[in-house]
Order: sequence, then structure tokens, then C-alpha cells
Amino acid sequence: MRTPIRQLDDAASNRIAAGEVVERPASAVKEMVENAIDAGATRIEVAYANGGKTLLRVTDDGFGIPEDELVLAVSRHATSKIDGSDLLDIHTFGFRGEALPSMGAVGRLTITSRLIGAAAAAQISINGGVMEAVKPAALSRGTVVELRDLFHATPARLKFLGTDRSESVAIIGVLKRLAMAEPLIGFNLCDVTGGGEGRTVFKVLPQKGDFFDALNLRLAKILGADFVANVLRIDAEREGLAIAGFASLPTYSRGSSTSQYMFVNGRPVRDKLFLGAIRGAYSDFLQNYRHPALALFLECDPNLVDVNVHPAKSEVRFRDPGIARGLIFSALRHALVEAGYRTSTTLADATLGAFHSEAKPKSPIYQMDRNYLHTSYTPTQIGFAEAPTLSARFETNFEEVDKGQPLGAARAQVHENYLIAQTLDGIVIVDQHAAHERLVYERLKKQMAKNGTASQTLLIPEIVELAADDHERVLIAALDLASLGLVIEDFGGSAVCVRETPALLGEVNAVALINDVVDELTDLSQTQSVKDKLDAILSRIACHGSIRSGRTMRAEEMNALLREMEATPHSGQCNHGRPTYVELKLHDIEKLFGRR
Ligand code: ADP
Ligand code: MG
Repeated sequence: MRTPIRQLDDAASNRIAAGEVVERPASAVKEMVENAIDAGATRIEVAYANGGKTLLRVTDDGFGIPEDELVLAVSRHATSKIDGSDLLDIHTFGFRGEALPSMGAVGRLTITSRLIGAAAAAQISINGGVMEAVKPAALSRGTVVELRDLFHATPARLKFLGTDRSESVAIIGVLKRLAMAEPLIGFNLCDVTGGGEGRTVFKVLPQKGDFFDALNLRLAKILGADFVANVLRIDAEREGLAIAGFASLPTYSRGSSTSQYMFVNGRPVRDKLFLGAIRGAYSDFLQNYRHPALALFLECDPNLVDVNVHPAKSEVRFRDPGIARGLIFSALRHALVEAGYRTSTTLADATLGAFHSEAKPKSPIYQMDRNYLHTSYTPTQIGFAEAPTLSARFETNFEEVDKGQPLGAARAQVHENYLIAQTLDGIVIVDQHAAHERLVYERLKKQMAKNGTASQTLLIPEIVELAADDHERVLIAALDLASLGLVIEDFGGSAVCVRETPALLGEVNAVALINDVVDELTDLSQTQSVKDKLDAILSRIACHGSIRSGRTMRAEEMNALLREMEATPHSGQCNHGRPTYVELKLHDIEKLFGRR
């Protein structure tokens, strides 16, 4: 039965390697474009047909390949990028010398190149692993790598490819990531299915300026102007590691983590280490299923990170993952804390949109003349409360509303939950319940960090009946809860006795509080750290100390709330990631009324 051990020939081993390096057209594009970047190109053009299955062509203006190295270029384990002595000292995208031979093994590969300063260009073709002789070619500069009929030599692999559409989407994704990593390089992606000029799918010119300027412009092109309008600048360094880039405000969040772009020494990576640190940093501001959008660049001495962990190089291994994780976490946290009360601009846009759609279809006033519009369009008609519920209206000295008080001066409370404040150049609408919830939570956390949460003893302890498993769950957590100022004891059966509650909350409904804590305990996953769990419970507890909507506030109280929001970190969103306020600038309001 047994066959003898034998050495596989190059064609076979290249086909095997190709399985890892070239999984689909997009991975071939990645290898080809990375080669162009390594060659110092400033403009890179990618053309593809039928999702890249029939044609992929990358044209660059890099330094080219000398004629007498073309054969080596398509040979396995041949590279100009390392000498093999130090696999940790890598400054290029490539270094494995596998991409071109792999492509040549599973498709029809043609490389045309002219070494910078050389008198002429040359070309080599390799088809299904069979190499043709090098011959002269016409090309003014740089390199053109063309891969046709990917996987025609391995039909089994062809079956695993997606539709042309999904393969195109993957190609676009790869190119966008590389274009983010290299803002100084111009990229052009063209779909040439059916021949002819083709259709430009994506185009960015080389960006200029310092790192942040260039990156900002590039991200605006790729992720959109909305993204760059709602991000915080990240810039931190620790123990030989630096992190830079942009991360979104919590209020500009996404339903999945697909808008998170991470790079290590310029290399796009998808790494659990990043994902965990990001989740941790935002854990206070976002519910679990919401994700910030971000583009983060980690830079370090190549010796501190091993990029040779994965054939497609999409994973990395840090020598000290703790430092990297800590840096990402603290850089993000720091920026979020600095951001304080800032909230996303798109909220104001959304608000405006809502006003428009409310007002337009219903209101015949829009057809009347402008003078009428300006004089008789009363606040009632744009959805504010009617006069009787305008529970507070008072004069403020607007001289005082200076730049130090960006949330302005309280003017009114409407529907017993929304504060209207006037700022220098607009108005702010605050959800008093959401805002207060956040403030209580931040105060509780501060107390916790100092010396544990102060508690107050209930005059009459409350007995709360629970379901049997809840009873057990809450007793297991009793010690942790006590550190938060919530002291409970077993009362026999499935009841607990609440003896003390966090002092900051004032008078609370102990039954509702315990039930909420039980809910939170049920929701918490086993994998969360103790600190995260405590924070989550604290956040639940905070709701109970908050001004419930429906409570009338006096002018001083409202202004005190605004001032405290300005002074409190993260007060732009409630504990559930919803905004606590929205701002409408005067020019937005003017637009609303057709004045602009
Ligand atoms: P690696 O990038 O790991 O070195 P490749 O198989 O991708 O391996 O490429 C082999 C060699 O061919 C590279 O080391 C480089 O010298 C040369 N090469 C490939 N593409 C280009 C290009 N676009 N411009 C200049 N040289 C290139
Ligand atoms: Mg390469």
C-alpha cells in the first residue's frame, strides 16, 4: 500500500504554497500592490475583469526589476528584501519570496519591467508553473504584473471562489486598506470587464502634508467626510511603541466592527489583540453590540513584532502583547476622556432631517410668502411643547455664556425632560434623564476609585423576593455589590434583605434597584473582567439615582446640570451610548427656516 517518500517538484510545491498565499483574486491583488509599494511606487493602478478571475493587472512607477533577475523574481523563496539572516528585522511588506511563483503556478503570469536607468524593458511569462524565456518588451518605466485566469491550473480551487461581485468587493476592500496605509501614494482601481477603457471604481491622488494631515485627507476619501468629522485624534507613545490615527466618538458607532482598520508598521492586520483593547476602551460608552469606527496605526521597532506568523501576513505577534494592548487601550481612553461632552455632528444633521421631514409634508406654511413664514412660524409648530408645559422660562445674562460654557445657558424645560439652552451660536437640547444618569455614573466611579462607594443604611431594610436562580446569583455577587455601596443579605427562601444603598443615589426604590442589578448579572458574560462587570453594574445602579424624566427642574438646577456636564468626562453620551444632548447651530436653524 505504501508509496515511497519523494521530493515534490517546484510546480507542485508552488501550487501548495499558492493555496495559502493566493486564496482568491483579492489576495493576489494584495501581494502585487505590496510589491509595488516595496518598489517605491508613487502611483499604482489596478485593473481587473470578472471579479479578478480572468484578469488582474497592477501597473506601478517603482524602481523596476533588472532583466537578469526576472527568472529569480518568479522563483520560489527568492527575494530582494531580506538576506535571511534576521527574520525579525523586516521593513518591507514582502520578504517570503512566494507571491510571484505562487501566482505563476496557478494562473498565467506575465511581468514586464524596466529597471530605473535601464535602456530597455524586459518580460517574463509563467503559466501553470511553466516558465518561458525572458524577452524584450516596451515599457517606459516601472513594472506591470498581469495575472490572467487565476486557478485555471487548479480547477478545484476555482469552485471555491465567490461570484464576480463578491470577489470585486474583496478586491476593493484590500485596495482601500492599502490606500489608507499609504496616503502618500496615489491609487486607481478600474474594472475592465468587457474590455475598453473600463470603469473607475476607486481613485485617490497622492496626498501631501504631515502624517495626520495626509491620513485625514485620505480617510475622508475612503471612509467619508462624516467619519473624519466625528473622530478623535489618537497620538500616544509608550516603551518604544507608538500609536497614531483617528477613532470615532462613541455616538458615531457602528453595528459591526468592519469599520475598524488596524495597521502594524503600515501593514493592515486584523488582530484579536486590537479588537479586545478597543472593546475595553469603549466599554464605558457603548453597548456591547455597538462598535466604534477607527483607523489606528501602531508603529514600533520591527524587532518587537513578528510578522511572519501567517502566510498572508494578516496577523502579527508582539514580543510583549501587554504593552501593545495597554497602549491602545490607554490612548483611546485618554482621547475619549479629553473629548468630554463632545457628541457626534451627524446627530445634529439627523435632528435637522427629522425637523424637515416633520415640517414639510404637513405644513402649508411652506407655500406662503417668506415674511409670513418668519413672523408666524411659532415654536409649537416645530414640535416643541405648548405654552402651558413650558415650566420654566427665565432671563439669563448672556454675557456669561462665553467659550468656557459651550453648553450655554438654560432657557427652558419642555415636556418635563428636555432642557433648552442657548449657546453663543445656537441652541442645545439636553435629555435630562440621560445626562444625569451619566453624571451619577461618573460620580460613582470616581468615588469607587477613591475609597469605595459610600453607602447609607436604610431605616427599614427592604425585603425583596427573587426567583431561585436570581437569588443565588445575587448572593454570589454580594461582596462585589457591597463594594459598590449596595449591601444585601440572604433572607432565607429566595428572598434577600437590602440593608444599605449607595449614598449618592439618595432615596431609591430598592426593589427596582435589585431587580435591575439581577438583570445586569444575568446579562454579563463569564468572560468579562471583574472590573468591567463592576462598571456595568455601577452603570445600572446609576440609573436609579438619576432625575427621572417627568421631574420639573428649577433654573439653577438646569444650569448646574449643564455646568456639570461640561466638567464631566464622557458626558456626551449616556451609559447606553445614546447622546445626552444635541446641538443645533444658528446657521442650521436658519437653514430650517429658509433664511440660508
Ligand atoms: P517578496 O515580495 O516576498 O520578495 P515576491 O514573490 O512578491 O516576493 O516578489 C519577488 C521579488 O520580485 C521581490 O523581492 C522584488 O525584488 C521583485 N518584485 C516583485 N514585484 C515587483 C515590482 N512591482 N517592482 C519591483 N520589483 C518587484
Ligand atoms: Mg511580494
